[in-house]
Amino acid sequence: MRDFESEDGIMQFGGVSVTDLANEFGTPVYVTDEQILRHNYRKVYDAFSKFMDTDIYYACKANTNLAILRILNQEGSCVDTVSIGEILTCLRAGFSPDKIMYTGVSVGTGELESVVKTGCKINIDSEMELEKLAEILGPKTRGFPLSIRITPGVVSGYDTKVMTGGKGSKFGIPMNRVLPVYIRAQELGFSLKGIHAHTGSGGNSIDPFLDAVEVLIDIANQLEEELGIKLEFLNFGGGLGVPYKLQEEEFNVENLASSISEMILEESSIRKVCLEPGRYIVCDSTIMLTKCNDIKDAGPKKYIGTDAGFNTLIRPTLYGAYHHVVLANKFNKACTAKYDVVGPICESGDCMAYDRALPDPQVGDIVAVYNAGAYGFSMSSVYNSRPRCREVLVNNGNAELIRDSETMEDIWKHQIIPERLLK
Ligand SMILES: *Cc1c(COP(=O)(O)O)cnc(C)c1O
Repeated sequence: MRDFESEDGIMQFGGVSVTDLANEFGTPVYVTDEQILRHNYRKVYDAFSKFMDTDIYYACKANTNLAILRILNQEGSCVDTVSIGEILTCLRAGFSPDKIMYTGVSVGTGELESVVKTGCKINIDSEMELEKLAEILGPKTRGFPLSIRITPGVVSGYDTKVMTGGKGSKFGIPMNRVLPVYIRAQELGFSLKGIHAHTGSGGNSIDPFLDAVEVLIDIANQLEEELGIKLEFLNFGGGLGVPYKLQEEEFNVENLASSISEMILEESSIRKVCLEPGRYIVCDSTIMLTKCNDIKDAGPKKYIGTDAGFNTLIRPTLYGAYHHVVLANKFNKACTAKYDVVGPICESGDCMAYDRALPDPQVGDIVAVYNAGAYGFSMSSVYNSRPRCREVLVNNGNAELIRDSETMEDIWKHQIIPERLLK
């Protein structure tokens, strides 16, 4: 796991003291280091592009902050989107439509019409979506570039809630329907460009990736030999794991890239690879800072109560996810006892970290939560009527606000008390 330096016992992040960040911007707050973000993108792009033509489609559901998208746009990234809202956000951040892929599931006709109007690329998830798309496009179906998502029968991921590629999954075209769907798409006049599978999220082994790529290659070869369909690219999805625990090793992207490229180059005629890492790009670029409000000794348990709950970061509650936490202003101090780090939400599941050895806490201490860049802010909510928090970008010692906190007005803005109830 990526760890950080300290100065005079205070954690430093992107060249800025974490306590200064908390003082200037308040807590809770998400803070992203621009240099780490750029480094992560380059690391995965360089690993693959060394071997073959590569497009990285950053899976933006992990983090859709406009400034973060803008940075990845500058790096040359493409984006994978799962909704019209994400497409519009990426357009606003400066992505051109040809760099945006739409990979929907349970896609409605209205949304698909809007997606078509944006001119972005489409990755089909179901047979009905294919028919709907052809109907929307009408004569423009001829030559419309298409890729198709299949269910490879391979899973990966840290939690069953984020495993997507197994047999019987709600995602993609089941294996026994893949050839008929390509045949149908060809009949309809589509220009068949690619094949796609995504097995799950946060897997730390490369084996599922290799298994999925094997399945994709087999299909691509069958399409070429039996139907004369020659695909341009193979997209093996996202899901590259990130270490959340201190001693855990980094995912070996170079190894993944060389193994996958070798398979594709040797076993197929495809010469372009696409992948859609979300977590890997943003996760360790961001920490979440929260302030210690309360300390409680409840007999068998000790608690540190902070100002961030699962309204701010839901992953521990939703997936039982582990996030490393430190007292950022006591960075090198000896740990004296174990604490649960809990939030202000009125549910017992509102716990960020269980049984963590930490130095003696005091009210006002700053807790830094690591690896908060992926599925952190993007999954936050206003539950318990707590407006969403700020986001800050740090870059070589400078800090800039990239999202202001919401206000109570934002929470009330779209609610209506019917006139008759006001009498
Ligand atoms: C969520 C998602 C990803 C990204 O998953 P990560 O684990 O964040 O890398 C990639 N592709 C698709 C289709 C997704 O839905």
